[in-house]
Amino acid sequence: MEEDKKKSRRKFFELGIKFGLLATVGTVAVAKAMDNEDSSGMVELMSTDGNIIQVPASEVHDVAHKQPEDYDPRVGIPDKKFVMVVDLAKCTNALKCQESCNKNHYITGKNAWLKVYKMQESEKTAPYWMPTLCQHCDKPPCVKVCPVDATFKRQDGIVLIDNERCIGCRFCMAACPYSTRVFNWNEPDQPAAAHEGEYTPDYAGKPSVKGTVDKCDFCPHMIQMGELPHCVSACPNDVYSFGDMYEDAVTNGSGQTFKLSKLLEERAGHRLLEGLGTEPSVFYLPPVDRNVDFEEGLENYTEFQSVKKTEE
Ligand code: SF4
Repeated sequence: MEEDKKKSRRKFFELGIKFGLLATVGTVAVAKAMDNEDSSGMVELMSTDGNIIQVPASEVHDVAHKQPEDYDPRVGIPDKKFVMVVDLAKCTNALKCQESCNKNHYITGKNAWLKVYKMQESEKTAPYWMPTLCQHCDKPPCVKVCPVDATFKRQDGIVLIDNERCIGCRFCMAACPYSTRVFNWNEPDQPAAAHEGEYTPDYAGKPSVKGTVDKCDFCPHMIQMGELPHCVSACPNDVYSFGDMYEDAVTNGSGQTFKLSKLLEERAGHRLLEGLGTEPSVFYLPPVDRNVDFEEGLENYTEFQSVKKTEE
């Protein structure tokens, strides 16, 4: 069962690619092998509704999908635009997402890239848990203010930091309206394993460096291998779904793939502080029809925010 789940996760990229192929039918010429053309010059394709339709073969052309490993630094994975969906109705403050993120990125102390906040709109409304992370804005104010070009946005939507260029001025932290960046005031207490891997800012982010800024990187090293980000795979409640906006598909930790546009429409998906024009790549589904008690998550709750101790 667990092995099946892992296989499903591993396949999320392939699923997404097929989904994306179908999503383009009917609007533009599509990427498709021309192996089913009939005598009248028509080919059969599946529409976004799942129906088989006939399209003139002349309208169909091949699009070479590059392999995920075939990309340039600071450009990202070609033909992708990564997005995340966070379902607030499912979060129980289990903090497995944060635990996995901290462990895999060698984050120590209170510098978690992913935090879960206790939210309550008013005394008369029910509280809920809200995970927060870098929103990977399409128009990121943090990138604009960096004086040394240490933080940058790739064409596939991911905002990253080159810790070797970062001078620790923290302009980016002041510019981020979501307060998702953290600063390494102290020497991180990291195991030797943290320094064994090869470091490139666009692939496997360097573990925390004293005097530089950190934040969620959407796990580009996992994406490149066709895997989901660590938080998505670790969540026991399938709070997170991750995928490609161009393919209109997101996949959760159990390997279930959803049509992004349908999910957002049906569940009233929204982005944080939409009015600022930052155009985040993270969408939230409101905490309605919750089937879990809020109290379930109180055991992990510490005042202000939920940050699990990493020293344990
Ligand atoms: Fe930059 Fe903050 Fe947007 Fe992340 S959430 S891209 S750190 S402005």
